[in-house]
Amino acid sequence: MIFASDLDRTLIYSQAFVSDYPASVKAVETGDYYSYMTENAAELLKDLAGRLLFVPCTTRTVEQYRRIGFFQNELRCRYAVTSNGANLLVDGAPDAAYRSDMLKALAHNCAAGMDILQGFGRLSGAGWAGAMRHADEAFYYCIVERDNVPLDELAEFSDWAAKQNWHVSLQGRKLYLVPRAVNKWSALQRVLEMAGDDKVAAAGDSLLDLPLVQGADYAISPAHGELYEQYGGYQLDLHARSQSQSHKRSQCYLNPHPKCWRRVFTESFKDLPNNKQGACSRRHWIFTESSGLAAGEEIIKTVMQLLRPIE
Ligand SMILES: [Mg+2]
Repeated sequence: MIFASDLDRTLIYSQAFVSDYPASVKAVETGDYYSYMTENAAELLKDLAGRLLFVPCTTRTVEQYRRIGFFQNELRCRYAVTSNGANLLVDGAPDAAYRSDMLKALAHNCAAGMDILQGFGRLSGAGWAGAMRHADEAFYYCIVERDNVPLDELAEFSDWAAKQNWHVSLQGRKLYLVPRAVNKWSALQRVLEMAGDDKVAAAGDSLLDLPLVQGADYAISPAHGELYEQYGGYQLDLHARSQSQSHKRSQCYLNPHPKCWRRVFTESFKDLPNNKQGACSRRHWIFTESSGLAAGEEIIKTVMQLLRPIE
């Protein structure tokens, strides 16, 4: 099985999340920027990575990903998806064939990209957005003054951009404009081909992670962020609905995607309690109970529980 996970605000967290967390934390990124995991989460992830194929899937550029010392020194990953899927690192180096295919796909998006940037520039009070940066020649992002973002206007722009096959995602102080062709799931498909694996547990917190969590057999999201805000309200307590003693994960919830996941959810819900061996063969979406830094640890523990029936 593959565990494909977003990093920021899913497994690793900035300083802002640390102050409310009482237990010990580990700095996994140091230097100009700091990121943290709980001490326990860092150890559990190393253990888990020895039992399955762990693939970091981040929107960070290659350079930004390499700043995370933990993945350079303590937990080296055979594969890593960066730049929201525009780059695939194999043993730390960009895969040239994948990059070439991606650039060809992106060539079809250049004209649309100019339209998107112009449309964004027309949003009122542009003073809340910093300079737009082109990340790894694949997508755009800028730093925003979060309190001044005209959210209704941005939502309208997001709807329009979606019709042009672009995603708009607001994560903390960063706003991303990403063509649909650039997504983590497409990159992970290449990993699946290379690794010859076929089962995926995926984790992510933002709308940019949606293709990943939709494509995976199991999806896990923290109880914070864009996905939780949009889909977390559809929680169903599996334990309350199931009399099965074999399924004891009462602290977790399975969630149907409001539109396209409901049918899948219904089928899998019916089958799950008596089907431990096949626990990973159905699509489920689990939200953690905890939010913030502790959610990262809970996600890792959840994957360990998913793994147990098929080991
Ligand atoms: Mg994230």
